[in-house]
Amino acid sequence: MNSFEEELRKTVDGRLLVPGDDITRYTVDWTGRWKSTALAVARPRTVDEVVDIVRVCQRHGVSIVPQGGNTGMVGGSVPSERSIVVSTESMTAVGKVSADSTITVGAGLTLSALREVAQSHGFETGLHIASAESATLGGIASTNAGGARVMRYGSARARIAGLRVVTANGDVIDRRQTLPKDNTGYDLVDLFIGAEGTLGIVTDVTWRLVEPNADTVRILFRFGSVDHAATSLPTLRRLPGVEALEWARGQDILRVARHLDAVPPMDTSGFWVFAEVAETERTKRDSGDAGLLTAAEPVIEQIIAEADLGTDDVIVAESANEQRAVWAFRESMSEAISADGVPVKLDVAVPIEHFASVCNDVDAAARSVDPDSRTALFGHFAEANFHISVLPPEGTAQYSEEVADEIEDAVLALILGAGGTISAEHGVGRAKQRWLHRQRGQAQYELMKQIKTSFDPDQLLNPGVLFPDTSIAHNEETPA
Ligand SMILES: Cc1cc2nc3c(=O)[nH]c(=O)nc-3n(C[C@H](O)[C@H](O)[C@H](O)COP(=O)(O)OP(=O)(O)OC[C@H]3O[C@@H](n4cnc5c(N)ncnc54)[C@H](O)[C@@H]3O)c2cc1C
Repeated sequence: MNSFEEELRKTVDGRLLVPGDDITRYTVDWTGRWKSTALAVARPRTVDEVVDIVRVCQRHGVSIVPQGGNTGMVGGSVPSERSIVVSTESMTAVGKVSADSTITVGAGLTLSALREVAQSHGFETGLHIASAESATLGGIASTNAGGARVMRYGSARARIAGLRVVTANGDVIDRRQTLPKDNTGYDLVDLFIGAEGTLGIVTDVTWRLVEPNADTVRILFRFGSVDHAATSLPTLRRLPGVEALEWARGQDILRVARHLDAVPPMDTSGFWVFAEVAETERTKRDSGDAGLLTAAEPVIEQIIAEADLGTDDVIVAESANEQRAVWAFRESMSEAISADGVPVKLDVAVPIEHFASVCNDVDAAARSVDPDSRTALFGHFAEANFHISVLPPEGTAQYSEEVADEIEDAVLALILGAGGTISAEHGVGRAKQRWLHRQRGQAQYELMKQIKTSFDPDQLLNPGVLFPDTSIAHNEETPA
């Protein structure tokens, strides 16, 4: 055992894994595209242990990759062979719900565990992502995760009231119990949100809980084409109590149907929109208990008329079972795609007026690199957000890095050309690092680099994420 490993082992009281142990789940990402190894995986339980780890790594010039559930889609949680993983999986403390409906939890608590706690106190989390079983609050904060209810509750940033963070020099920034009004200088909490582990290690998250829904109805629309759906988006947004508008191409529903071994509830040609309308006890009382469907019906009629939908093109799911069955065709999309191969994943958004044309052109962009590529598209309609997966031809497990880069370049050029963003929710990570400069321009890129340097001058935290890896550890031998 070298002295680095010995010192590290002491910081976490033996909760250290090294390459001889089974560390694969920490070194390969969810998509399977990013694979590596690490010098070690440290699993601290307390903020003090995180501080000690940072100090040992600082002394030995070893970089740190913070990791939560490892469900990120851009390779940001995957270590290099010259770094260690700091996994927050053992940091799962749960605080009390405070009078302002916030709760402070350990960064390693999963979103579904937080949901259980919230529900036991009569609240909800207000964040819905399909990776909730594994994604952690620290990862969610660090990626500013979005998901299906952003149109109602905002991204993670809107739900985070405070954070505790260990910086690259081992300082603890404690902003857990912030006041509703506090205009004292720079908002450090906001800076750590979405920083993808490049500015500090989040150890605790203070979360704003939301009122639970008393009633929910899900409505599935099948539009003849994406153009019809895009034309109806302003009307879909007017559905009373709407909190989610999701989309998928009919042709991609077939893959999910195969994966779930389920029969699609309607024709799989055209473009599907999954709408969810909901009301809380309070909004229910305010509306005189009129009923969700009664309120939604005139708007549904308007959508049917303006998009020329048939009676078979609209399904209203009222019971919990019907709702689950319908939503499964959207929620199981990522799993179904991964079951078909290792995709090149992109998560982009465009101005709504370009949504239909981009949707129609993505296939061609991917096929300009590989005519046999298979593209799957779905996403969050309200924000014109696309999750794009480009799968290699059947029989090929995975694209080479070179071809994957070419595919990314072709699709992202289309997105930037339409005035869009190369990352709507998943972040930049390692996968999109070389695009950040083009997305944000010279002035913003330089300012972001200066922020990184002032927080982390030695490039200890997540080198290679957001910016090229220029860390000391990048070219040196294994520490002694
Ligand atoms: C099936 C599926 C569906 C998904 N759906 C959505 C979706 O709808 N919306 C969405 O936004 N994302 C989605 N994601 C992506 C992913 O779940 C989110 O990005 C999530 O927030 C990552 O959380 P995590 O704990 O797994 O983080 P990780 O994957 O472990 O890490 C992600 C990034 O955050 C950093 N990080 C993690 N923990 C910390 C910490 N404590 N301190 C500092 N940095 C840290 C890592 O270094 C890395 O850069 C989905 C993923 C899957 C697999």
